[in-house]
Amino acid sequence: MDADLETILIDEQQISRRLDDLAARMVAEVPREGGVPAEIVLIPIMTGALVFTADLIRRIPTMLCLHTVAISSYGRATQPGEASFNRELTSLPDDLSGRHVILVDDILDSGQTLKMAQAHVLERGPASMKTCVLLRKPTNAARAVPVEYVGFDIPDRFVVGYGLDLAGYYRNLPMIAVPRASVIERLVEPSATS
Ligand code: 5GP
Ligand code: MG
Ligand code: MG
Repeated sequence: MDADLETILIDEQQISRRLDDLAARMVAEVPREGGVPAEIVLIPIMTGALVFTADLIRRIPTMLCLHTVAISSYGRATQPGEASFNRELTSLPDDLSGRHVILVDDILDSGQTLKMAQAHVLERGPASMKTCVLLRKPTNAARAVPVEYVGFDIPDRFVVGYGLDLAGYYRNLPMIAVPRASVIERLVEPSATS
């Protein structure tokens, strides 16, 4: 798999150190109830946020519940498409009143995915909602989405690894990398890139 990569943008150690910081901030910043941090409802957007979330929650030593939202916008292509919500793979409680939500995604690009997820959470009336992304691209659209926790700002390249896929592959890479153009050509249907 390593031969399929053009550049490694962020290695395992850098990810690990950044996750320590993000988790510590989340715990420090969640409102306190009765002298202790209030319960966190952490909501990853599937499937890209799966690896990030698994590593992040094990650094959060306070009461936490996990629910999932499934939204996909890429299909097999490498360009943003329309975001679509998958009700079957979503496990959101109908009522989030009084609860402190942290939405988690792998990457913020056009912002469509997060805006849709934020709307689904807000209509359930949480006491607070914060948003966390591991990666953010330098687009105006991405900057326009309110995000409290950002792991890394990265260049405007298509990246894979640590949960992020190309045509369903490479999620299991332990680092964030740019795949070779030849690999993208081989795996992405020509019709899906237009
Ligand atoms: P947005 O809706 O912000 O355009 O895109 C966010 C979603 O698209 C992410 O949740 C992620 O699944 C996918 N995405 C955006 N940029 C990339 C990228 O560079 N690589 C991969 N693998 N997925 C991306
Ligand atoms: Mg996604
Ligand atoms: Mg994807």
